[in-house]
Amino acid sequence: MQETQPIHCPYPDCLSGRIVRNGSVKGHQRYYCKRCERYFGATMDTLSYRLQTPIAEIAQALFALMQDGSIKGVARATHHTPATIRRWRKNATYQKDELIASLLAYHASLDNSPQLIAFRAFLATPYPASGKSKLSVPS
Ligand SMILES: [Zn+2]
Repeated sequence: MQETQPIHCPYPDCLSGRIVRNGSVKGHQRYYCKRCERYFGATMDTLSYRLQTPIAEIAQALFALMQDGSIKGVARATHHTPATIRRWRKNATYQKDELIASLLAYHASLDNSPQLIAFRAFLATPYPASGKSKLSVPS
């Protein structure tokens, strides 16, 4: 089992760093968030975690990516790997309506705003932008 980086609560409404280890389930380290009192696993970038990443978190990360423009910067801020952010960006085109709905659920003031229009266009743009055969970037 590999050690993970500093753990933060994965729930987008919390993201607290007040995390304690809490035993293990089927060999996977479990953690407990002292702030929101929820449990989560440590396998931050495994398939199981990926599938569980709340869409709200992905939406906020991609919105930050549009504004920031730096995959590495957003990865640092959200405690995910650049590869994860890239994957979210790549898949965003297919779930843009859900992503926008999710973002609006958290930031209702963005409705009809220029940022939201830009975000919609951003999500609709395929990634990587060029059609060149730029295959997987090592991470
Ligand atoms: Zn929490």
